[in-house]
Amino acid sequence: MLERPLDLTKKAAEGAEALGLRTVGDLLEHVPRARREARTVAALAPGETATVLVEVRSIAARPVRRRGMRPLVEATVADATGPMAATFFNQPWLAKRYEPGTRLVLHGKYEGRGRFRVANHATTDEAAASTEEVSHYAASEGLSSTQILSLVAAARPALRDVVDVLPARLRARAGLAARDAALEAMHFGADPAEVESGRERLAFEELLLVQLALLARRSREDTAAAAVALGDAPSLTERWLRHELPFTLTGDQQRAVETLRAELAGERPTQRLLMGEVGSGKTVVALFAMLRAVEHGHQAALMAPTETLAEQHFATVQRLLGGQSVTLGLLTGSTPAARRAELLARLASGECSLVVGTHALIEEPVRFRSLAVAVVDEQHRFGVRQRTALHGKAPQGRAPHVLHMTATPIPRTLALCEYGDLDQTRLRERPRERRPPATHVVSGERERARAYERIAEEVRAGRQAFVVCPLVEAGELEDGVSTAAQARAATEEFERLRTGELRDFRLVLLHGQLSHREKQAAMAAFAGGDADVLVATTVIEVGIDVPNATIMLIENAERFGISQLHQLRGRVGRGEHDSLCLLCGPKGSARLRALGGHDDGFELAEIDLRLRKEGELVGTRQSGASQFQLARMPEDEALLMSARGCAEALIAADPQLSQPEHALLADRLAALYGEIAAHPIAA
Ligand code: ADP
Ligand code: MG
Repeated sequence: MLERPLDLTKKAAEGAEALGLRTVGDLLEHVPRARREARTVAALAPGETATVLVEVRSIAARPVRRRGMRPLVEATVADATGPMAATFFNQPWLAKRYEPGTRLVLHGKYEGRGRFRVANHATTDEAAASTEEVSHYAASEGLSSTQILSLVAAARPALRDVVDVLPARLRARAGLAARDAALEAMHFGADPAEVESGRERLAFEELLLVQLALLARRSREDTAAAAVALGDAPSLTERWLRHELPFTLTGDQQRAVETLRAELAGERPTQRLLMGEVGSGKTVVALFAMLRAVEHGHQAALMAPTETLAEQHFATVQRLLGGQSVTLGLLTGSTPAARRAELLARLASGECSLVVGTHALIEEPVRFRSLAVAVVDEQHRFGVRQRTALHGKAPQGRAPHVLHMTATPIPRTLALCEYGDLDQTRLRERPRERRPPATHVVSGERERARAYERIAEEVRAGRQAFVVCPLVEAGELEDGVSTAAQARAATEEFERLRTGELRDFRLVLLHGQLSHREKQAAMAAFAGGDADVLVATTVIEVGIDVPNATIMLIENAERFGISQLHQLRGRVGRGEHDSLCLLCGPKGSARLRALGGHDDGFELAEIDLRLRKEGELVGTRQSGASQFQLARMPEDEALLMSARGCAEALIAADPQLSQPEHALLADRLAALYGEIAAHPIAA
């Protein structure tokens, strides 16, 4: 029954096609988006657009005087609260089709004085007065929500044939309704609670399938090739941790190191995502893992997405190594040919045991004698193919232990959906006792004037200031097309301040449209203390480190996303002095208030996700949850955790879902995500 094609008129069939609906089964899977209250006739207000459930009393076509127009159809329809006159345009055949006694769902406009102008209509079996809500469906040109409602009602008996991919045992254990019952509840539920229970059941399935795909892939990776077990007692790492590090590890770093120590000692390849904001001390943890390889006589590599980052890592690693003699190399696109040739030879011979670099590391001619640990910084900036290539640098038949790093705080739920095939570690603790910038929202002229006074006070005390100029419109960061507009705004603000509030000080301007030389000059002036105030667009987000800068003013802060504001303010408070971040914007903004109250990027990411749900949608992209039709994050966190638990149990018992009772699940996964086997870890 489910595979029967829908029986539709040509126009409706086109509309259905646009929605991807071809069969009865497709239709039943097309669950309503929302429920709309059906109004009663007596309660309709003039001018209101509404849906009503009525019965036809009488119906007739009436010729229209104007030429070229088809006859109108006028019907007297009624529900329990009373009758009204419904008018259908351009469809004279309806007079025959909707005989008296037919129950209809009508959607249209109530024109007052008992007249209703019908926009969409369909028959329904639902007893008119007993249902107060009607399902509302995603519709298309040619196929209205009302028509879908009627089609679904007609297809209801086919629900019996709906296949449940969840094994009966799992359903029983988790107390889940059958799939057909869940669909039935979503389409025809008598009250919101019933509809919600249907949604939760289907959302659970969605989440379970994602987690199964992730875990099955991981399980395949785990068994495809063993890693080198780095199990010997520590020697180099011990000395390094004890004597070379100029600080003690934070609790979070300590835990991360212990986890890695245990994990690297096994043959199961490490696949761990290390999350921590800039400055949280990820590199130290990564270096520990790399030195574990070195002290076992193997090699380690750290790959960064840009040359600048690779060079920074190289310098950090060099510094952190202290007096330990580890042969260290740097390989990027601009490594001179002779040096490169020499380094490649030393990597191939094993003489060089630790290398930092860019994509240059995974190019064909690069060979390692024995790569055992690979670290990928800002892993989301590498493609699957690049990460696969890195894998391929391990000795034949071996997999490297891989540590992925990211400085982007991702909410827990999204991390589990996007990177659920990786084990995860978060570094939340700040290493040094740096006091975060005091953050205030500035509104109105008085407070603004005071803000400029504060900037003046800081500068007079010998400190420096940032003024960050607004995005011209929300969301423009994403397309990047309006860097020109942003540059213009910054230039105007620069001119205004230079002759206005900040005329006593030395100002420099920095934006994306300047030439490389001009940018360098502006940054150098500010970093060298030859400028007091840097007026800039968001280009300062990346890589400016001026410990003497203690105050930042952000214009139109409400146009930025939470995470971006948090990153921006990270540019102040890097030195010994107290610092201040002033956000110009409405006091009522929940986002701006959140920044005032929190300094932990992970916490802010969670708040951001919650606020996004409430419609305060601004700023940088946050993917992950959009892959779902029915599951919602973070509200469905409990469902997600339970789906994760179920998936773990299933995969532990049947890693490739090859048992007969899992055949349907495996088919469904293959249909959704392709052959599980086909992809390497896609984090
Ligand atoms: P990330 O890679 O997460 O941005 P890094 O590992 O580069 O952070 O560390 C940032 C800075 O903090 C480095 O200068 C590092 O030496 C220092 N650092 C790291 N861990 C600690 C610690 N536990 N105590 C003090 N300083 C630390
Ligand atoms: Mg770093």
